[in-house]
Amino acid sequence: MDGKPLFEVTYLATNRNIDLLAAQIAAFHPKAVAVADAHAGGELVARDPGCEVLIGDEGLRELARRGEYDIFVGALVGFAGLAPTIEAVRQGKRIALANKETLVVAGELLTALAKQSGSELLPIDSEHSAIYQCLIGESHGSIRRIILTASGGPFRSRPKESFPSIAAADALKHPNWVMGRKITIDSATLMNKGLETIEAKWLFDLPLEKIDIIVHPQSIVHSVVEFVDGSVKAQLGMPDMRLPIQYALAAPDRLERSYDLLDLMMTAPLEFFPPDYEKFPCLGLAKEAGMLGGLYPCILNAANEVAVEAFLNGVIQFTQIPELIEAALDARPGSPDLPFSATSDREISNSIDRINTCDSETRQWCEEFLRSARFSAPAKPGQIRERSPKTKAFNES
Ligand code: MG
Repeated sequence: MDGKPLFEVTYLATNRNIDLLAAQIAAFHPKAVAVADAHAGGELVARDPGCEVLIGDEGLRELARRGEYDIFVGALVGFAGLAPTIEAVRQGKRIALANKETLVVAGELLTALAKQSGSELLPIDSEHSAIYQCLIGESHGSIRRIILTASGGPFRSRPKESFPSIAAADALKHPNWVMGRKITIDSATLMNKGLETIEAKWLFDLPLEKIDIIVHPQSIVHSVVEFVDGSVKAQLGMPDMRLPIQYALAAPDRLERSYDLLDLMMTAPLEFFPPDYEKFPCLGLAKEAGMLGGLYPCILNAANEVAVEAFLNGVIQFTQIPELIEAALDARPGSPDLPFSATSDREISNSIDRINTCDSETRQWCEEFLRSARFSAPAKPGQIRERSPKTKAFNES
């Protein structure tokens, strides 16, 4: 090693955390940065940070469109990640993707665009990184199924009857992983695993029937692939996001680690359980939306983002998160049944418009639903809403 850094930071982006961004500018000297929030962006410019500052959603897209980088790390939260990621895919870049919502809402489009441009999609999500690593040297046809592991979140052993009284602070305590607020709530409802199922479908080009979920509270086995000959491969490691992040940057190479090694002698017994679809209805809703395809995953995702925000703000109960999502899927805002296409520039831009429209119409529908009297009588402790026949049939299969 000649002391030269392995990676150079060309651009950085944030929503509005300009204090952290200013510290990162001082440490990494990027050529330009983007700040999505206009007010925060203006404030950063006023501080004269010593590099070009682009502002707003267009600023994020503009950075992704500029070609002077090799790897795009997509780590925006939620739907906001879609537009910049599409730009980077169209540039043919390697995409290290931490933003699973992008693949959930636009997996069909993104994978088609990636094929056209030669862009490589590498997961940062730990389960998908595990599967990616297990599949190296294997042929697609030899996969019998993949099994995504789920920690089960903080409420795995909590009785269902007490779910309505779950407070946001309880849900924000994840047993194994330190993550952002949105994904931590998604982990508590198991929506995270539902979104990951759809993400896996697109990343590994597999039907949902070949993607299973198993609860593994220790988060040591990061995911599993079962092959047609009965051989099973898994990737194990400490629950530390630095491993999948650096793998996505360096693959197929492996870099020296700066985090703890897994000591199998010291690891608690590894346990595995089936997921509980009754206690965690978000799991069934996500699978249902994934099966329906088209824009249904977009409705699922938008309704979930509104529901999580409403739960964090004390507007709805924990158990009402899946209720709002199910109501939105049943209401079908945004014409979700129209087919998708990515064969010409015009069709690509139509597809993006339709995803954007579906997302905003769903959010609007959910906000109205929350404002209306329909949610004014929260479910009483122990009272579980009757599932729709469609979802019930799915959950029991
Ligand atoms: Mg994950």
